[in-house]
Amino acid sequence: MQEFDLVVIGGGPAGIAAATTASNHNLDVLLIDERSTLGGQIYKRVGPGFEVKNSIKLGADYLRGEVLIKSLTKSNAEVMLETTVLSVEDSQVIVVTADNKYESIKYKKLLITPGAYDRPVVFPGWTLPGVITAGAAQSLVKTQRVLPGSKIFFAGSGPLALAFPAQLSKMGANIVGIIEAAPRPGLVKSFRIAKSLRGNLDLIRDAFFYQFHLVKSRIRIKYGRIIVSANGTDRLESITYARVDKNWRPISGTEKTVPADTLCIGYGFFPSVELFKILNCEMSYDESRGGTVVQLDEWGSTSLPNVFGAGDGTGVSGSYVAILNGQIAALRIAYELDKISEKTLFSLSKSIRKEVNLRKKFQKAINHAYAVKSGIYQLASSETIICRCESIPLKDLLPIIESTSDFSVVKAYSRCGMGLCQGRNCQRQVSALIAAKHGLDLGKIPGTTPRFPAKPVLLGQIADSSIRDEKYFIDEQ
Ligand SMILES: Cc1cc2nc3c(=O)[nH]c(=O)nc-3n(C[C@H](O)[C@H](O)[C@H](O)COP(=O)(O)OP(=O)(O)OC[C@H]3O[C@@H](n4cnc5c(N)ncnc54)[C@H](O)[C@@H]3O)c2cc1C
Repeated sequence: MQEFDLVVIGGGPAGIAAATTASNHNLDVLLIDERSTLGGQIYKRVGPGFEVKNSIKLGADYLRGEVLIKSLTKSNAEVMLETTVLSVEDSQVIVVTADNKYESIKYKKLLITPGAYDRPVVFPGWTLPGVITAGAAQSLVKTQRVLPGSKIFFAGSGPLALAFPAQLSKMGANIVGIIEAAPRPGLVKSFRIAKSLRGNLDLIRDAFFYQFHLVKSRIRIKYGRIIVSANGTDRLESITYARVDKNWRPISGTEKTVPADTLCIGYGFFPSVELFKILNCEMSYDESRGGTVVQLDEWGSTSLPNVFGAGDGTGVSGSYVAILNGQIAALRIAYELDKISEKTLFSLSKSIRKEVNLRKKFQKAINHAYAVKSGIYQLASSETIICRCESIPLKDLLPIIESTSDFSVVKAYSRCGMGLCQGRNCQRQVSALIAAKHGLDLGKIPGTTPRFPAKPVLLGQIADSSIRDEKYFIDEQ
């Protein structure tokens, strides 16, 4: 079995920065990612078969990613792509590799940087073809250079509600409307954001260019509106939105319907916490960073010895914080493995920490301005499918929720959360219904308890074909 000083799970900004830093301090490093290219979500590369002739044309994020990936390639870190981590146990990560091999890899230290995924939002029609998450639309454009539709409506909240449609529009997409659930930032919120600008001018510059592009293209953002329904028979034909009250509940009588063939949903992200949960790390709840998050100390260390976390998978804080926290965790790991002295650890991490603090201050101001409100969990009608893997509508869940405040009981009685996504799409929605019904705090409702395998895998990939038990096998003649 192979053994490394450090195994990094995730090849996004956090994982790449950490693996590079650790390798440059003479650690034996392996970085694993399930995708075919490095870069994670924000620095996603174009897909196999494409040739990039002029990377400048692909925008600033692409170039930033290129620099980061080059620094990793120059280091001695090993990289395993198209390799999915299914679990972690006994200081080993269990993976399925690109050539369908089921392997265990031993580590002295583990850094988990799995990133985040789009917040699923449940409303009538959300499962119609033509309704996609903003991240999916972004992936189509970034990796395949394909636009998701010809009349695209965008519903979301936060800075990415500005960035996504602007990025799509720059690619030639026809954006027919943008709604933002939060109100336009007033004086107090704008002042708070302005106070945290130091160290974040690059983000403001990006926001300015996105805004400028939208204004130039005559695309207006309508504030204080939320998606109410996606309408159509076999696929999306139109969308309906409405004004919201201060808790993001639609105000009856203010609905408007707009023809569209694509609806992009972008109300933020949830951290991918499955591996931390499998390991039994201490978790907590912070809605502003995506909900369930792993508890870390100032070095990125979890409650378990030798297990660290960084990036959006530990609480959504953006790519800059992901890079910096990845570096801090790598330095700490180098120190714990006697590769650098305590003095070097503190001197190298000091300036990084200073930058993290400035970035976090800005992030906090943004989170405050665009905080998700409870109305986002109240958009479904009784016929709306809540668990899309198992096709379970709200009306089938309500009687169960009446009598229990435990998500696993709802799951056991209804199969909600037992499908391919293992509750990633429906669990928060069900927990919010439970919280509302029983007057509980959403953060206090225990979520799913992920087990091996953390990601869906074919049985054939993990079965050991050398073990034969005649009563279970039928030999083909
Ligand atoms: C859908 C989406 C769109 C975004 N768009 C923007 C944007 O336009 N602008 C912006 O500034 N920020 C954007 N962000 C935020 C930005 O992408 C993140 O802040 C940043 O990528 C976080 O870096 P990370 O390294 O923590 O995670 P990621 O970049 O998400 O990288 C995590 C990596 O871990 C891998 N991974 C996860 N689980 C496993 C496993 N079990 N086995 C193997 N590999 C695994 C994934 O394949 C991925 O490559 C977006 C985020 C998301 C989720």
